[in-house]
Amino acid sequence: MSVTNYFLPQSLDEALRLVSEHEDALLVMGGGTVTMPLINEGISAPEQVLGLRRAGLDYIRQEGGGLVLGATTTLSQILDEAPIPMLREAARNTAAWAVRNMGTVGGNFFVPPPAGDLATALLALDAELKLVSRDGDHRVPVSRFYTGFMTNVLEDDELLAEIWVPMPEGQTAFIKYGRKEANTPAVVTVATHIVNQNGQVTKARLALNAVGPHPFRARKAEAVLEGSALGADTIEAAAKAAAEECQPSTDAIASEWYRRKMVKVFVGRALNQLAGEEG
Ligand SMILES: Cc1cc2nc3c(=O)[nH]c(=O)nc-3n(C[C@H](O)[C@H](O)[C@H](O)COP(=O)(O)OP(=O)(O)OC[C@H]3O[C@@H](n4cnc5c(N)ncnc54)[C@H](O)[C@@H]3O)c2cc1C
Repeated sequence: MSVTNYFLPQSLDEALRLVSEHEDALLVMGGGTVTMPLINEGISAPEQVLGLRRAGLDYIRQEGGGLVLGATTTLSQILDEAPIPMLREAARNTAAWAVRNMGTVGGNFFVPPPAGDLATALLALDAELKLVSRDGDHRVPVSRFYTGFMTNVLEDDELLAEIWVPMPEGQTAFIKYGRKEANTPAVVTVATHIVNQNGQVTKARLALNAVGPHPFRARKAEAVLEGSALGADTIEAAAKAAAEECQPSTDAIASEWYRRKMVKVFVGRALNQLAGEEG
């Protein structure tokens, strides 16, 4: 079977009408960096494709104490324009410029690990996803979006329209560790966001990727951090907790054993980086 219809709606309303008419018979495409190679190689054979790039969802704006990212904002736009350093760092660490020029922030929520670097940063920042259908819209925290490997709460008649990111207080760190310096899949990605008050961590977010079925928060490690000073013992205990609660698997990039070891190392490095900044 080959693609018989390629829809290029000029607005979100038009896109939603097409999605409601065709539901799961329609392949939704953001930048196509993942979907197009699968179609070209015959691995995926959709009859109907809907491209979102003309639907008016490519914007970055500041609103209500946060940042709004349209779902088809490219990774290059984020690298050039996002006023949150961790988002720029995550985009810089995602693929190479050719993919970043096409790939979208929305698409990054639907790709299998080890991809999902930007989604991991957005998880650490408590971002929320605006899911829309013809019946209305609702916001879902990134922490409640994923339900398993390549599964999530998006319904067949919905699209991801935009992402709302509260402007972070405190400190953030993002480290992606791969086999090469750049343009490489993650062995582990660590995104952390810490708020300190009077020498105590009052809020800790520690998001990990490539060591589980989707980007996730290492909640036991966060619990170790909250209420403690960000000292060597706390960092060691949090890194150990993160290594214990992750669920890595073995693949062509790294073994389960190695990934777990690297979680401890790189969670420790990210937290030490923040502790160093504080001092
Ligand atoms: C060579 C290469 C290297 C890569 N390296 C990395 C990397 O280092 N890190 C990383 O995180 N990723 C990486 N990726 C994965 C990918 O390119 C990016 O994650 C990108 O953000 C995907 O966005 P896209 O718009 O191109 O997705 P598409 O291919 O257009 O779509 C991917 C999936 O998302 C769904 N989708 C897209 N937008 C929406 C929407 N608005 N609403 C509902 N569903 C939607 C599509 O239906 C599809 O299932 C790489 C890809 C390639 C080809």
